[in-house]
Amino acid sequence: QNPTVVITGASSGLGLAAAKALADGGQWHVIMACRDFSKAEAAARRLSIPKDSYTVMHLDLAALDSVRAFVDMFRASGRRLDALVCNAAVYLPTAKQPRFTADGFELSAGTNHLGHFLLANLLLPDIQKAPEGSLKRVIIVGSITGNTNTLAGNIPPKASLGDMSGLASGLGEGTTAMIDGLDFDGAKAYKDSKVCNMLTMREMHRRFHDKTGITFASLYPGCIAETGLFREHYSLFKTLFPLFQKHVTKGYVSEEQAGQRLAQVVSDPAMDKSGTYWSWSNEKGSFENQVSEEVSDGAKGQRLWEVSEKLVGLA
Ligand code: NDP
Repeated sequence: QNPTVVITGASSGLGLAAAKALADGGQWHVIMACRDFSKAEAAARRLSIPKDSYTVMHLDLAALDSVRAFVDMFRASGRRLDALVCNAAVYLPTAKQPRFTADGFELSAGTNHLGHFLLANLLLPDIQKAPEGSLKRVIIVGSITGNTNTLAGNIPPKASLGDMSGLASGLGEGTTAMIDGLDFDGAKAYKDSKVCNMLTMREMHRRFHDKTGITFASLYPGCIAETGLFREHYSLFKTLFPLFQKHVTKGYVSEEQAGQRLAQVVSDPAMDKSGTYWSWSNEKGSFENQVSEEVSDGAKGQRLWEVSEKLVGLA
């Protein structure tokens, strides 16, 4: 059996491009873990991903039952598991009111963080069982926008988990639905969820790397300014943002290039340093990036872990 990678949200954007890059290489079988089966299948065909190199499996991260059902379905397939890529995300910058997952969590935190938190925890034993010689990786896609030590991360509203009192009270209806317990802001909810993604990767590294040999990593693939992530943004933003990224910040990358970067973090034997947050520059190629003060806060990572475990029913 070829090594297998599960990629969440592989029906568009970065996840789809990474699925294509890995499948085309001929070494990997890609499980496209997607909420919309026919969209994912159509996308794989459109990109001519070789038929026997991928399987679409249903996963809706906005429902914890679906996460558990996905894990059962994956196990029933009898495939080995070498790598998990937590890539799917929603971004609701224009939302005036919070929306909620099936379990009643604010949608960005619930999908981007809590769904992936449960999925990664459930699949760790499967990755641990991968055959000798497997690279064994868990990759959680981060973002510069959740990183306040960068220029882009300083554009308001800035990410901040605060005292996490909102998360501790469940992010449900009747609350502000924000992790910090302050007023609802859809753009900030996304950025906060990305901070959670990066904190989770670092906490997983601390808890499990030595014990399991699994490599945990995060990355910022560059600004892929035209993906579906911006689907709910104002149309003027959708026109101007790619131009701004191409000509002003020069941070723009195509979906194809970003997909190759993510595929590299999954499959390059040299990128095996656990706990790393990878970025790329035109001059240096890939490099280990610094995380923000909040993301480097180990005590916060532990607290996030403990609260998240309770919310998803692991503790
Ligand atoms: P896209 O919107 O193109 O892709 C997001 C994917 O997530 C889609 O496949 C979408 O499925 C899926 N998804 C959303 N909700 C769920 C759910 N409940 N269950 C399962 N899948 C779901 O955006 P990108 O490719 O840009 O985003 C991918 C990752 O890259 C995200 O983690 C994002 O934070 C990160 N990122 C993106 C950057 C950018 O500039 N675009 C920059 C830095 C990081 P569907 O097709 O059904 O909607």
